[in-house]
Amino acid sequence: MSNLDLMQLIKGRVQSLKAYHVENIDCEIKLHANENPFPPPPEILKLFEDVFKTSDLNRYPDPDCRLLKQTLSKRLGVIPENLAIGNGSDELIQILLQVFCDLGDTVGFPDPTFAMYAIIAQGMGLKSLTHPLDDQWDFKAEPFLESLEASGARIAFLSYPNNPTGNCFSGSEVQKVIENFSGIVVVDEAYHDFARKTFLSELPRHNNLIILRSMSKIGLAALRVGYAVADPAIIAQINKIRLPYNLNTVSQNLTDRLLNHFAPVQQQIDTLLAERSRMIDALSKFGQLTVYPSDANFVLFRVEQDSAALYKRLMDKDTLIRDLGSHPRLKNCLRVTIGTPAENKSFLEQMAHIIK
Ligand SMILES: *Cc1c(COP(=O)(O)O)cnc(C)c1O
Repeated sequence: MSNLDLMQLIKGRVQSLKAYHVENIDCEIKLHANENPFPPPPEILKLFEDVFKTSDLNRYPDPDCRLLKQTLSKRLGVIPENLAIGNGSDELIQILLQVFCDLGDTVGFPDPTFAMYAIIAQGMGLKSLTHPLDDQWDFKAEPFLESLEASGARIAFLSYPNNPTGNCFSGSEVQKVIENFSGIVVVDEAYHDFARKTFLSELPRHNNLIILRSMSKIGLAALRVGYAVADPAIIAQINKIRLPYNLNTVSQNLTDRLLNHFAPVQQQIDTLLAERSRMIDALSKFGQLTVYPSDANFVLFRVEQDSAALYKRLMDKDTLIRDLGSHPRLKNCLRVTIGTPAENKSFLEQMAHIIK
C-alpha cells in the first residue's frame, strides 16, 4: 500500500492552476458556448453514415491528415505545407506555445479576450502580458507593440473577432502589429465565418503570421477540429511537437465531407447572421442595457442589475448563457450565443420578463 503526500509531488505551477470551468449544466436552451445551434442537416448526415462504413476504425488515423489538408488547401488557396491540424484550435494554441516559448517567457494579448491564452500559458510556466482594450474594445498598435517589445514577448494573440467582446479590432492596427512585431503574431479567426474578414492574404508577405481557424463554431464542436495556416517553416516545427495521431479518423473524414458539401452549412450561417441582427435590435430596444456590436455568433451586453442574478433567473427558465461579470472590465456583462430563431425568441421573451 502507498499513501504518499501527492500534493508534494505535483509541481507548484500546476497546484496554483484553477481547472478551466466548463459549464455543463443540462439546460433546454444552450446559448453559452458559441456552438452552432443547428445539427448537421440530413443530407450531410447521410454522407457521414458513409464515412463510418468506409473508415478503417481498426487502423491508426492518417498522422498527416492528407485528405483534410487537401480539401482545406483548395478552400483557402494555400498549399498543404501551410497547414497544421489540431484537436481543436485549443490544442494548436498549446503547441504554438511549446514551439516558441521557453519557461518564463512572455506571451501578449489584449484584455479582455479568450481565456485559454492565459490558462494554457500559466500551465506551461509562461507569463501573460495583457494590454487593456479601450471602451470600444479596440486597441492602438503602438502602445501594444511597445509593451510587447519591452517585455520581450515571443507571441501575440489577437482573437479576430474577439471573444468575448464580439468585435473585430481595427484592421489597420492589427496590420501594424503584424508588420512591426519582432515575434509571432497569431490571428485567431475562430469566428471567421461570421465576420467574413481575414488576414489570410497577409501570409505570403509575413512569415511571422499564423492564422487559426476552428470547426467548432460552425457545427462540428463535438469532433474537435482546428487548423493553423502559416509559413511551412513554422508548420514543420509544429509537426515535431504535435503528437502523431492528434486528430482521429472520424473527425478527419467527417470534417472533409462537411467542407466538400458546405452549402447547407452556409445556409445555417446565413440564418445565424440574420438572427444576430435581429437579436442585437431586440436587445437594444430594452433600453436598460448596453449592447455591443458583434462580428461573431454571439453578443455581449451589459445590464444595470447584477449579471449573476440575471444569469440565475434565465437558468431557472432552462436557458444557459455566459455570465462574464467576474472580469473587472466586464462587470455585469453577459454573453449570449445566437441560437435558432425559436431559441432566440424564447431568450428575448424571458429577458423582457426579467428586466421589467
Ligand atoms: C472557441 C474558440 C477557440 C477554440 O476552438 P476549438 O477549435 O474548439 O478549440 C479558439 N479561439 C477562440 C477565440 C474561441 O472563441
